[in-house]
Amino acid sequence: MALLPVDEALERILEGVEPLAAEKIPLDAAAGRILAAPVEARCTQPPFDASAMDGYAVRATDVAAVPAELAVIGESAAGRRFSGTVGHGEAVRIFTGAPVPSGADTILIQENARLVAEGRRIEAVETVAEGCHIRRAGLDFFDGATVLDAGRLLDPPALSLAAAAGHPELAVVGRPLVAIIATGDELVPPGTTPGPDQIVASNSFGIAALAGQDGADILNLGIVPDDRAMIADALSRALSADADLIVTLGGVSVGAHDLVREVLTAQGMELAFWRIAMRPGKPLIFGRLQGSRVLGLPGNPVSSLVCAHLFLRPLIAGLCGRSFAPDLRAAELAAPMKANDERRDYVRARVENGPRGLVATPFTVQDSSMLTTLADANALILREPGARASEAGEPCQVLMLR
Ligand code: AMP
Ligand code: MG
Repeated sequence: MALLPVDEALERILEGVEPLAAEKIPLDAAAGRILAAPVEARCTQPPFDASAMDGYAVRATDVAAVPAELAVIGESAAGRRFSGTVGHGEAVRIFTGAPVPSGADTILIQENARLVAEGRRIEAVETVAEGCHIRRAGLDFFDGATVLDAGRLLDPPALSLAAAAGHPELAVVGRPLVAIIATGDELVPPGTTPGPDQIVASNSFGIAALAGQDGADILNLGIVPDDRAMIADALSRALSADADLIVTLGGVSVGAHDLVREVLTAQGMELAFWRIAMRPGKPLIFGRLQGSRVLGLPGNPVSSLVCAHLFLRPLIAGLCGRSFAPDLRAAELAAPMKANDERRDYVRARVENGPRGLVATPFTVQDSSMLTTLADANALILREPGARASEAGEPCQVLMLR
């Protein structure tokens, strides 16, 4: 099979991806989720004409010429309205959020009222036009209005708005369950002492964090040796847990111990592709296995995480009902770069602000096993297949990682 260009690989991965089925969850658990249905207001807000200030509810004509003395006939507080009517020459003490009493048509702010007769009377010292400082009923929204659209990210203002509209629960897009399987005879978990030929398995942690940040639930199926039966067993555990997506790590290259593809095929996976024209991370598998999608990431830690940025993140976003746009920016090279071969190269780099915009410094060592350089990188410089050598100062495109 020929190497597949990166963009085509992503297209195939996203083919037929739909937001997962909706679920109802309490509002206080809905932060960061995506609305599966529009939210319609179950009330009008404000429900009544309300004062926006502390002061006095008056008739505008009574204070058209100042100073003007008015009798204070009662009080309207938030949560406790004045039930009478404001007549000529009268005022009602009013506070922010309180219903404006009938008869009154404007609010004289308390800074413009002088107390006389121990607060039983006031003197208006400024005129005030009709309708001042009154929030009309329905200013924010009316009962039955659509206040949030389906597909909306439930960010802090959206959550407060849903609450204000009277919804203690919301229908949101389900969270994808991502099962992660690390493969390799040489792998031991962190915290255990590796044997003479072993290394610590690291990939699952970064991949799980990335998927979790993007809204997935994680089922970590641990480390599986390079053994057909044990790989098959891990896959069936993922399938019986109803994983929406199975991510395998390692074992997808061409070595004699790279058994993941073989096992997946034997289990009936519909293979969409294997191997793409990129570096780091040529071996990459995608396919469908029963109701689940399978993404086989390369074992090298840097390849694993870079491929996850490019392919796993958009896939999770699609299942969550979110759009996904990679953070691609224009920058200037701080150092020369060699001509590229036929694979798109993602070069770990540090991108910083310079006098004319962003400046990208590629790291000199690019080994795909080195997590230290990936941890130092905040971006990847994109080198297109066949790109000629570049000089320092030339423009380049960078994919920001954070
Ligand atoms: P593979 O893709 O299985 O051929 O693995 C490529 C390289 O990545 C080998 O050096 C493996 O030891 C290493 N590797 C595979 N899986 C992991 C993992 N989960 N964590 C860290 N390194 C890994
Ligand atoms: Mg391996």
